[in-house]
Amino acid sequence: DPRLQGISEAIRVVPHFPKQGIMFQDITTLLLDHKAFKDTVDIFVDRYRGMNISVVAGVEARGFVFGPAIALAIGAKFVPLRKPRKLPGEVISEAYELEYGTDCLEIHVGAVQPGERAIVIDDLVATGGTLSAAIRLLERVGAEVIECACVIGVREVKINIWIACFIPNDMPFRD
Ligand code: 5GP
Repeated sequence: DPRLQGISEAIRVVPHFPKQGIMFQDITTLLLDHKAFKDTVDIFVDRYRGMNISVVAGVEARGFVFGPAIALAIGAKFVPLRKPRKLPGEVISEAYELEYGTDCLEIHVGAVQPGERAIVIDDLVATGGTLSAAIRLLERVGAEVIECACVIGVREVKINIWIACFIPNDMPFRD
């Protein structure tokens, strides 16, 4: 896809952030570039339009940047998957492993109806732990998770669902 090079070039790589040894992929520079930002959203929309997706679930925080634009364009609702104690209503929670310790994602009860077709959006997949927790949450509320999608895939992940990644290794891949 000829759009990928411009998207790739618009992502800034920040060495040693937030700690020594991490090459942080910074999508805020992509958001400053109107063409690259629009191309990124369009690639997702091209992939998911016409697939009868009614739920776009975005992972806090960077899934909130891309998810709503995709949801509006494909005629779906947007459902935020949030860090603990952010959602005011009744929630269900899923914990997941981090390099040190655990974290948690939450969804509002009632945001998704059983049988709805969902996709999960985040900016980047590394180990897949975050996306796995998102999938478990959606499945617990009865959604069918069709696919996950990220702008950036940084290494091979092991989860049992297709992940579409566009940068830097034009995937999709699965375990
Ligand atoms: P995973 O759970 O797949 O190991 O990590 C993915 C999560 O960590 C995503 O929510 C993603 O936003 C965040 N993340 C990890 N490394 C980076 C990075 O280099 N850049 C950005 N933008 N997010 C990262």
